[in-house]
Amino acid sequence: MKTFLAVDEARAIIVEAVAPQPVERSPLHQALGRTLAEPVRSRDAIPPFDNSAMDGFAVRTADLAALPARLSIIEEIPAGAAPTRRVEAGTCARIMTGAPVPEGADAVVPVEWTEPGPDGTVVIRQAPAPGQHVRLAGEDVRAGDEMIAAGTVVTPPAIGMMATLGYAEVAVRVPPRVAVIATGDELVDVGAALGPGQIRDSNAPALAAQVRTAGGDPLPPLRARDDARHIRSVIEQALAADVLLFSGGVSVGDYDLVKQVLDDLGMELLFWKVRQRPGKPLAFGRLGGKPVFGLPGNPVSSAVCFEQYVRPALATMLGRTEILRPRHPAVLDAPLDKKAGLHHFIRGIAAFGEDGRLHVRHTGPQGSNLYSSVLQANCIIHAPEPWEDPPAGTVVEIEWLTW
Ligand code: AMP
Ligand code: MG
Repeated sequence: MKTFLAVDEARAIIVEAVAPQPVERSPLHQALGRTLAEPVRSRDAIPPFDNSAMDGFAVRTADLAALPARLSIIEEIPAGAAPTRRVEAGTCARIMTGAPVPEGADAVVPVEWTEPGPDGTVVIRQAPAPGQHVRLAGEDVRAGDEMIAAGTVVTPPAIGMMATLGYAEVAVRVPPRVAVIATGDELVDVGAALGPGQIRDSNAPALAAQVRTAGGDPLPPLRARDDARHIRSVIEQALAADVLLFSGGVSVGDYDLVKQVLDDLGMELLFWKVRQRPGKPLAFGRLGGKPVFGLPGNPVSSAVCFEQYVRPALATMLGRTEILRPRHPAVLDAPLDKKAGLHHFIRGIAAFGEDGRLHVRHTGPQGSNLYSSVLQANCIIHAPEPWEDPPAGTVVEIEWLTW
C-alpha cells in the first residue's frame, strides 16, 4: 500500500486499476450522453446524390451565353422524386431544394433570377456559374470515412450524423453502477428533523448526482452507522454495484471503521492519503476486483475528490477518449493563501476580463466543511504542491466545473 502520494500518482493508480465496461446496443434516440464503444463510419456518401440547393431550374450553363434566354421546361422534380428525362440543349427542369439534379444539367438557376415565359417556357435573366447551386454527392461525408471515434460522448450533432448515416442503433458502454454509501452516526435523511448533534446526509444525494453527470448509474444511496457489523452488512448490499463509493470513515478518527471493515473483507488497499487539500485522507482499493473509493466525509472533500478521481475512473470504465476536463490558463485576481507541500484544489469563479484574458478569483474561505464554496464555484483552481502564497497576477490553471 502506498501512502501520501502526489495527486497525479494517485490518479494514475486509479485509472490503471479500472477496466472498460461491457458493450451494449442502444436505440439512437436514447443514446444522448452515452459513450460510443465503436467508431461511426459512413457506409454511403452524404448527400447520396447531386441535388439542388435552391428552388429554381436545372439548366445547361452553355445555353445561357446570351441573356435573357428562354428555355422550355421538360418536367418538374420535387424533393423525394427522381428525374425521368435528360436536360438537352434549349431545355430545363423545374427543381426544388433537395431534389436530384437531372442528367445533362450542370447548374441551378434560383427562381428569383427568372420569370415565367409563354407555352411552358421560362425566361432566365441571370446565369449561374457551372456547378452553382448544386450540392454534390459526397461533399459532406465520403463513403467509408470514420465520422465519430470510439470513446466519444454522444452529443446532439452526433445523433444527427448517426441518423443521416443510418445508425438506428449504436454500440455504447454499459454505465458503471455505483453504490454510494454514506457513513456516520450523525447523519439523518434529508426530510428528517434534526436531533441534537445530527446533520442531514448531503454527500450521498450530491455524490449520486455527480455519478450521473459523470455517465455512471447510481444505485439508491445506502447509509451505514459507525458500527463495524452494520458497515459490513451494507457493503454486502453495495456489492451489487460495479464501483463502491464511501463517504466518510476513512480519516484517523476513532470511529473511522470503513477502512478496517474493508480490510477484514480482504480489500486490496492501493493507497491511502494524497498530498492534497481538501481530501488528504482519500483511500482507494479493490474488493473482489471492484474499485472502492473512500472519500473523506467533509462535503467539500467529497465533492472535489469525486471530480478529481472518481470522474476519471468512470470515464475510463466508459472507454472515453477524454478522461480529464480540459484546463485553461487564467490570471489570479486575488492572492491565494497556501503553504508549500500539498496540491490545493481551490474553488474559483472565472470569467473573461476586458483585456480578453481569463481571470479567476477564489470563492472566499476554503474550509473543507464550507460547501457553499462548491455551490458558488464555476471552476477549480489548481495550485501545485510547491507553491506558496501565489500573489495576484500569477497565471494558474483552471478547470471549468461544467456539470
Ligand atoms: P468523516 O470523514 O467521517 O470523519 O467526516 C468528516 C466530516 O464530514 C464530519 O464533520 C461529518 O459530520 C461530515 N460528514 C460526513 N459524512 C457526511 C455526509 N454524508 N453528509 C454531510 N456531511 C458529512
Ligand atoms: Mg464519520
